[in-house]
Amino acid sequence: MQRDTVIAKMDELVYAKTKPFCYTCYREAEVIDDYARCLKCGSDDLMRLWPGYGCEYGTETFYRPLLDALDSQRAEADLSDDWWEEIETSAYGQITIAGITWDTGHVLRELDPIAFQCGKLDYIASLEEDGEVIEVGDQHYWVSQLEDVLDEALEEANTPAEA
Ligand SMILES: [Zn+2]
Repeated sequence: MQRDTVIAKMDELVYAKTKPFCYTCYREAEVIDDYARCLKCGSDDLMRLWPGYGCEYGTETFYRPLLDALDSQRAEADLSDDWWEEIETSAYGQITIAGITWDTGHVLRELDPIAFQCGKLDYIASLEEDGEVIEVGDQHYWVSQLEDVLDEALEEANTPAEA
């Protein structure tokens, strides 16, 4: 699934941008032959350290600073109320009340804000389930667009700097 691919790519980039860190000794660990280990205590149970951000086990904590460091804004999904109003209107068209024509999405939003929000949240949940959007730290992203952003960053990370 594309969502899993995107997570794998974020992990790869987080690994490239962080360093192994021994919390017990509170020092950066050494990497020898691709194997990270703290040479002071011998532990390989290591955190990742993002200089200036912090250290944590696993990679998930660092998705936020990673996306902030990349051109991820173009992959942001606008899932605002205005967005949902337009989707409702494109699905149900317009409605005429007393000779005045309204967008159905607008009428629903005004008349029954709870139903409006429930419909919106259900739809976002289905987008997440289908792997079309992914949420990283309160921000939703279109998975396919985010993958483009990550591919570019990976290409850059894997291109040796010109001498
Ligand atoms: Zn150590």
